[in-house]
Amino acid sequence: MKLKSIQIAGFKSFANKTNIDFQNGFTGIVGPNGSGKSNVIEAVRWALGEQSAKSLRGKKMKDVIFSGSKDQHPLNRAEVSLIFDNTSHFLESDYSEVKVTRKYYRSGESIYSINDHECLLRDIHNLFMDTGLGEGSLSIISQGNVDDILDDDVQKRRTIIETAAGVYHYKKQKNESEKK
Ligand code: ATP
Ligand code: MG
Repeated sequence: MKLKSIQIAGFKSFANKTNIDFQNGFTGIVGPNGSGKSNVIEAVRWALGEQSAKSLRGKKMKDVIFSGSKDQHPLNRAEVSLIFDNTSHFLESDYSEVKVTRKYYRSGESIYSINDHECLLRDIHNLFMDTGLGEGSLSIISQGNVDDILDDDVQKRRTIIETAAGVYHYKKQKNESEKK
């Protein structure tokens, strides 16, 4: 599985539709302070279902919507799509290319979709659970995360290891069935 491209529109500093295509190997994003490098990675986390506005450096979720600049009016919608190569069917989907999209409107309406079929946030979480990209995964390490991991209590650290080992999924299912 490989992230082939990201499409961003109306998300944070990306007012206009922006496509970022990834080639094989490493990709580095460089640019002056405030040019939007961190916003790119936040767009990825957001499309994967991030629910915490705070962890996206905002107060409310609507802070992800382009809020205007001296040349452009604020927008009413943020939209991010991630396009994955899934020829290996690593993601549990029949599609050889998987596109996940999240849209958010100033009204508070939120839409998720997989390959342009509307779905629930839970479907997005399930698609990526135990792939290394799911909720709380360690594929994206942001500033300060390393300290958090080292400082966390034993139970939290265990959850981190279980997530990395790909068994957290089973534990969550077990806990849910015990609750029923
Ligand atoms: P640094 O090198 O300092 O880490 P960076 O390239 O990572 O910078 P970002 O933090 O990604 O930069 O981008 C910050 C910019 O995004 C700021 O100029 C901020 O005003 C802009 N920004 C954030 N949210 C919005 C929004 N909702 N609408 C418009 N612009 C926004
Ligand atoms: Mg940054």
